[in-house]
Order: sequence, then C-alpha cells, then structure tokens
Amino acid sequence: MSSSERRYFENRFEDYDGRTSLQSPDGKIVEPYYSRIRAETHKLLKQCEEGFEHSRDDHDCSVYTGAGGMALLYMHLSETLFKDDETQKQQYLKNALKILEHSQHGLKGKRMTFICGDPGVLSMLVVLYSKLGQDAKSETCLSKLLSLSDHVCGGDPSLPDEVLYGRAGYLFSLLFVQQHLGAEKINLGIINQVCQAILDSGERLSKHERNRMPLMYTWHDKHYVGAAHGIVGIIYMLLQTLPAQSVQSNLRSIEECVEFLVSEQFPSGNFPSSLENGTDKLIHWCHGAPGAVHLMVKAYQVFGKDKYLSTALKCGEVVWSHGLLKKGYGICHGVAGNAYAFLCLFKQTGDPKYLHRAMKFAEWCFDYGKHGCRTPDRPYSLFEGMAGTVYFLTDILDPKSSKFPAFEI
Ligand SMILES: [Zn+2]
Repeated sequence: MSSSERRYFENRFEDYDGRTSLQSPDGKIVEPYYSRIRAETHKLLKQCEEGFEHSRDDHDCSVYTGAGGMALLYMHLSETLFKDDETQKQQYLKNALKILEHSQHGLKGKRMTFICGDPGVLSMLVVLYSKLGQDAKSETCLSKLLSLSDHVCGGDPSLPDEVLYGRAGYLFSLLFVQQHLGAEKINLGIINQVCQAILDSGERLSKHERNRMPLMYTWHDKHYVGAAHGIVGIIYMLLQTLPAQSVQSNLRSIEECVEFLVSEQFPSGNFPSSLENGTDKLIHWCHGAPGAVHLMVKAYQVFGKDKYLSTALKCGEVVWSHGLLKKGYGICHGVAGNAYAFLCLFKQTGDPKYLHRAMKFAEWCFDYGKHGCRTPDRPYSLFEGMAGTVYFLTDILDPKSSKFPAFEI
C-alpha cells in the first residue's frame, strides 16, 4: 500500500527507552511534560471555546457533536485542570449548566443514549443541579431520565442495543449519575432491568440466527464488532455493571462472547469493524482495536484470564504503529481516542511504555491541524473535534484517573 492510500501517518516517534521516569510520586506526569501539556491544553481550550461559540448549533444538544459534548468537557475540566481552584471549578460547572439549559429545547425525545440522545443531557443536568445546590431541579431531571427506562426495557424491536443509539448507551447514563452522586442515587432494580433487556435482546437474536454465540447483536442488519455500534461496546457496558443480578447470572454467556471476540482478532492486533467485513482497515475507538482494548482489559479484571490481557496488549501494538490517523485528532476516530488505549493499558499494567506512548500521541496533538488531516464536519465537538482533544490532554496530566469520556466508568 502506498503511503497516500494509508489511513494513518507513519509513526516516527521513538518508543520508550526503558529508563526515563515519567511519573512523579503523586501520580502526575513529571516536569517539563506536565507544564508543557498544561500550556498546550489552555491554548487549545481557548481556540475550542471561541470556535464553539461561533459555530454553535442550538438544535444539536448531543454529546457526540453538539452542546452536550462541550458541557461534558466543562464538567471534566472542573474535576481536572481546575480541581484546585475553587472559583474556576464552580465557574466551569456553571458554564456547563448554562450550555445545557440553553440547549434543553433541543431535546428530541427520540434517541435513548448518553452520547447521542436526551439521556446524556438529562443525566448531566441531574449531576450539575445537585452539585450547584438545586436539588429540586436535579430530582425533576432524574425522574425524566428514569421514566425513559420503560421504553428502553419495553422490548421495542426497533431500539438497538449498541452504545451510540441503543440500550447500552442508556445504561451508561444511569452509571454516570451513580458515578457522580453515589450508587444509591439510582435504584439497582432499574439498572438490573436495563441489563436484562440488553441480555434478552442478544439472546433473542442468537436463537433466531441459531448462532453458536449465546448473545448476538446487530445494528442496521450488520454484526458490528466495535465500541460504538458493536458487541465490544455492549459487552463492555455490561461488565461495568457487575452489581446487577442479571449480569451476574449471565457471566458465562458474556465470557463466551469475549472468547469469540478474542478469536476474531487479526494477526496485526486489530479487530474487524463487523463480522461481515473481514478487512483489517479501521483503527479507531469506534471500529477496531482502540475500542476493543477497553473490553479486553475489563474482561481480564473480571475473569482473570491472561489471554484477555495479552489480547489487549496486542491491541496496544497496532494502535502504536498505525494509530496516528489521517482523520484527525478527535476521540471517536482520531489520535486522542486512540491514545486512550495506551492510558487504559498503563492503568492496568503500570508499564511506563504505555504512558510514554500516550504522551507521544499528546505531542502529536500539540500540532493540531498541521499534519494535513481532514477537518471534521463539527470541528470543535467532543467526539469528532477539538473538545475531545482537550479532554484527552487534561486526562493525561493525571493518567491513573483518566477515563474515556461517555464510555468508561
Ligand atoms: Zn468514529
């Protein structure tokens, strides 16, 4: 393949030398990297805020491309970059609330997920109102959020199960509220029902297809594999919900799916985008190894089999060699999203090699827009554009606390 046909730039960064210390005793990355990344983050954040204001679309309140994504970034900044500055911290929470209150009329009552639908906006409002002392409003939004569970659990055959538009994306909204306000905030019975609905749906399709996998999922009639539309994302969300009885009683079926996915890994370390498509091409969070790594590490934590960790480590190799994408710097199908694969491996293994690799991808993002990448349709958005890059850069400052936004609990 000639370099012009490739979807990625050749990675010319040196790999980890095995000696340099990258972390200080408090877990943060060492100087001068810390100050450099902080400075670059502030620079990009300023550009991003200005760009967002100028290109704002009040009809799009999604986390993926719209106002919801900017609100999520602001919430994240209040917990990371501005954690120790009480005034700034409160200001960013208020900014997030302002954006969401302004875009509330954009709620469509259609899509059921954190990333693309009303539950994302509602669950952020639940958290923000609560943090800013407006408990009655927080409760109202929580009731609205929970009332959607009837539809999610009602067996609507047109509702998919995947993370971007389906039940697993609704599940994340509930986990998000729990993560910020405590597990007791949401009745475990409801979470259990949502997981059961996802499991029932997978079982139904598996039986219908006489598939040897106990759980099967499709989106638009294709058996997608990846984190955004596929089985990787669905199974990952279930494994992040271990307290649910329905998940506990189906761990064997869930593990069979993980086993099956392991067998689908390409020799390169990547994964197919769907079972219908056997080409080793896309290395994105949404399709491919950078999303699968999160599931494989989780499966290793839950089931304890070395095989799952070595599958995850293989993902890390292909992301390093082929992960500097021409599609840009975002988190869905860009360099920042791919770098989260390294942060995930670093958190699991403690191996500084992975932190080094994440830092090199961060360095790549410092030259935002200078590599000749395609400009995304929503250049300042969280999932396609600059807001996602800023989110990643603040996460790398304190790598042990990093989490892929709207996906990792
Ligand atoms: Zn994508």
